[in-house]
Amino acid sequence: MRDLFGEELIKHQYLSQIFRKLCTFYNYEEIATPLVEHIQIFNRSLGETSDIVSKEMYNFKDQGDDHLVLRPEGTAAVARAYISNNFQQKLVNKYFYIGSMFRRERPQSGRLRQFNQFGVEFFGNRNILSDLEVILLADNFLNKIGIRKKLRLEINSLGNKESRGKYIESLKEFLNKKKSHLSEESLRRLEKNPLRILDSKNSKDLEIVKECPKINSFFDKESSDFFDGITKGLKQLGITFELNSNLVRGLDYYNHTAFEYKTFEEKSQNTILAGGRYDSLINMLGGNNSTGVGWAAGIERIVLNLVSKNKEKFTISVFSNSPEFNFEVLNLIKNLKPKDNLQINFLNSGNFKKKLSKASKLKSFACIILAENEWKEKKLIWKDLISDSQETFSLDMIEEFLNNKLDKK
Ligand code: ATP
Ligand code: MG
Repeated sequence: MRDLFGEELIKHQYLSQIFRKLCTFYNYEEIATPLVEHIQIFNRSLGETSDIVSKEMYNFKDQGDDHLVLRPEGTAAVARAYISNNFQQKLVNKYFYIGSMFRRERPQSGRLRQFNQFGVEFFGNRNILSDLEVILLADNFLNKIGIRKKLRLEINSLGNKESRGKYIESLKEFLNKKKSHLSEESLRRLEKNPLRILDSKNSKDLEIVKECPKINSFFDKESSDFFDGITKGLKQLGITFELNSNLVRGLDYYNHTAFEYKTFEEKSQNTILAGGRYDSLINMLGGNNSTGVGWAAGIERIVLNLVSKNKEKFTISVFSNSPEFNFEVLNLIKNLKPKDNLQINFLNSGNFKKKLSKASKLKSFACIILAENEWKEKKLIWKDLISDSQETFSLDMIEEFLNNKLDKK
């Protein structure tokens, strides 16, 4: 778990602002669910054999013997909120969230134990247009923040429950014959969660996975019609994608559409945004038959791929040449209008020489000095530390003076 500060925190805030604006525009409502939920919410919905439930959740019993977890993901929590708050009565059921998730994973770049996600969920009847809407929202968002071109969109369908069931049987049969070639991790998954083997990053497994039966040959009419609708729709929208028949999502609640935006890097943390359709989730958690589709994106992974567009900030230091004028300097900065690309440092201790040297250590490009003689005429000294030149200007012109200096930068 890492502290967030400085440039990185500023990037998180910048991204949140864009995400919030875009979601609101498409009529998604912001929701903030608690960081802690009953363990059953995730056990029941994600599946006992998912990585999250089997090894990644931070769970504990509280003083009242309630078994709780720090939420590992947002979808099940929002679905729980949908039921608890009777959202099924609402006309529009589209939500977005921004928040921290917790998973006890092996920490590495792009894989943290507390990380942040943007997510959207769209509940209602099963409708291809809902899947397309959440994907186009993802696409627009990634475009707006300038990283869409660095990513490829992969899509697949897990079919409906029946098709998926038949596929899993055949996959198991195939993989059982190849047991001696599989990694230990995959052997463990073989009985409980064979679909996840398709997602393996192990090179031995990958050879076998290439030969595996493909899910689309097990689709019934409903499953193939739905998937055809999605691919046709994406083409009509001009959203480029690749089919990846091995793309599976590791959680039990997914069916039909599955998609991921990935970078072209060959590493296991290359998925930036991932989502899919979850038709039985609300029902699994005790709600009605509403279906849903949504996605989540890792903010830290977006930040790792962000092309910096930050405007440079300039720093100036402000001080007096004698302690008795410190309050005058405070008054001066009190009245200054904040500017996007300017930071001011008030230097309040040390002698004149010390202040000057601190100003340059702080990478100030100039200083504003309140000096006794000039101040008698309400004038200030501007000392340019780059050209080492000096001039005076009058206090009542300070805004114009500063704007002029910044314009030339
Ligand atoms: P992965 O295959 O990378 O483990 P996942 O399938 O566990 O991903 P999801 O549960 O689909 O991930 O979460 C959606 C997104 O959240 C991921 O695509 C990724 O960008 C981000 N994410 C997931 N786990 C972490 C983590 N531990 N640290 C940082 N970001 C994460
Ligand atoms: Mg994971």
